[in-house]
Amino acid sequence: MIEVHSISFRYHDDWVLRDVSFRVERGEFVGVIGPNGSGKTTLLKILYRLLSPQSGEIRFELVPLKKMDRADIAKKIAVVAQETHLLFPFSVLETVLTGRSPHLGSLMFESDKDLEMAKKAMEWTKMLPFSGRRMDELSGGERKRVFIARALAQEPEVILLDEPTANLDIHHQIDFLNLILTLNQERGLTIVMASHDMNTASDFCDRLILLQEGRVYKMGTPEEVITKENIEKVYGCEVEVDQNPFSGKPRINLLKKKTPLPSSP
Ligand code: ADP
Repeated sequence: MIEVHSISFRYHDDWVLRDVSFRVERGEFVGVIGPNGSGKTTLLKILYRLLSPQSGEIRFELVPLKKMDRADIAKKIAVVAQETHLLFPFSVLETVLTGRSPHLGSLMFESDKDLEMAKKAMEWTKMLPFSGRRMDELSGGERKRVFIARALAQEPEVILLDEPTANLDIHHQIDFLNLILTLNQERGLTIVMASHDMNTASDFCDRLILLQEGRVYKMGTPEEVITKENIEKVYGCEVEVDQNPFSGKPRINLLKKKTPLPSSP
């Protein structure tokens, strides 16, 4: 469904992504993991064409992304970006309804179906009771759930999620992940999720892409990617990897030990 062919990208002088290639099949749940600054957010921004790579190409269902117009992209790909610090004077319902804009007719008026879809998405994310509230009167976690609802209201084929569970308490984290997993398994929604929570990515994703300094270090199933050797090499810290007894997936354990302090002068 999505083919990324050898893309490289730099903001200024230094390359931030180098020769990155991978494919995402329809209906897959793919996780992008890697240390801070390894290029996860940049990669997602390129996938939704906020940024263009200096070299390489991305194809969506065989069509080069750069040849698709914005409305076509928005009908197929929804994004939940990291928290923006802009505060909107809009209500929750108005914000979620903006997710319907790629589907509106030429008059740009919302139909009953648009309203129904927006309400359904707010129900899924438990934001319906907040529908009349202003966005700038919500907590960071509540705002995140509104943006998730907006992306779902868009009825996309692919959803790109950048650290979707940051800011959410464990109750809303698991509700969200289970909702996404259900949409993936029951409705065939394709998911690409950047996350620094590797244990969650290991539990939920079919396949992982581990980035190191803008290159793909390893790509494969959680069992192939989450190994003591790979994680220690890429993150530069000691870990132990065992199996989560509930999910059966690899689990990273951080080791507690005293840090040697510099001796006093
Ligand atoms: P990650 O999401 O893995 O933490 P990012 O994609 O955010 O990584 O960042 C990758 C690299 O690009 C980092 O070195 C970061 O400092 C740099 N970077 C990110 N955004 C910008 C920007 N707007 N301008 C210049 N450099 C940037």
